[in-house]
Amino acid sequence: MRAACVIGWPIEHSRSPLIHNYWLERYGIAGEYRREAVPPQKFGAFVQSLAARGYVGANVTVPHKEAALALTQPDDRARVVGAANTLWLDNGQLRSTNTDVEGFLQNLDACAPRWDRDLGKAVVLGAGGAARAVIHGLTTRGVARVVVVNRTHGRAEALRQSLGENIAVARWEERDAALADAGLLVNTTTLGMEGQAPLAIDLGKLPSYAVVADLIYVPRVTALLKSANGRALRTADGLGMLLHQAVHGFSLWFGTKPDATPELRALVEANLAASPPKLVSVTQG
Ligand code: NAP
Repeated sequence: MRAACVIGWPIEHSRSPLIHNYWLERYGIAGEYRREAVPPQKFGAFVQSLAARGYVGANVTVPHKEAALALTQPDDRARVVGAANTLWLDNGQLRSTNTDVEGFLQNLDACAPRWDRDLGKAVVLGAGGAARAVIHGLTTRGVARVVVVNRTHGRAEALRQSLGENIAVARWEERDAALADAGLLVNTTTLGMEGQAPLAIDLGKLPSYAVVADLIYVPRVTALLKSANGRALRTADGLGMLLHQAVHGFSLWFGTKPDATPELRALVEANLAASPPKLVSVTQG
């Protein structure tokens, strides 16, 4: 029987077992997906003994994603983003990728088809790990210009320097003005998450063809998405991204490409509503 796991510290919050075990059952695959609570000082040894522990691969979450990059053979995505969240054994070699990139893109494709057609400018709020994945994804789709707006200006600058020439930086106070002519707005900050400060932004300057995406999935419909809906803009939510980012890992480990069905969505939504994760918990699946 094939087995995979999610490795984190803490790990109780993770919804990945719910998602992968749902798919195992749905596709009739004799497999198992478990949680593994591993503290940082034991992470290296744990990863090196994955095969011996009977695992064909793993998801990696906070705080191990940068360490996972260093301990594996990362693909270009993981290398550019600077973090790995999906590991798999390939002929005895431990390889890794970052599936947030495709999770973000595939969710946008599903929620707002042709969102990237003639997209001249995208605005990304935030400059953390999730922003890096989003910006790398936008770059691979040929988005002409990405404006990064972050509270800590230096962090946005560092991101611009490492991620490419089509990136511009605006100050946090300039976020409303930055929306003029933007075809896409993405919130990758923690603002607007349950228990966090609200995201104060005026969508008035966004054109009517703009798409608004929020990576936050608790609450599922954030104030930002409500405000976009109020203006009849197309939207993509964080729960969709969470489900889509899990697809690639499952197919690597269990050999079947699963679907992010409405039934699975409803299952995870109900589970999140019953026990909402705390901030530390939500930074990854
Ligand atoms: P991170 O590296 O800690 O980055 C957090 C970002 O939020 C930074 O840009 C930070 O700005 C900004 N921020 C925090 N408090 C702020 C405040 N009071 N005012 C203005 N900006 C503030 O976290 P991350 O890993 O990138 O994750 C960010 C969000 O994405 C989380 O909500 C996470 O749950 C979500 N996420 C969702 C998925 C999904 O599948 N849906 C996947 C990955 C991440 P500074 O640089 O100034 O601190």
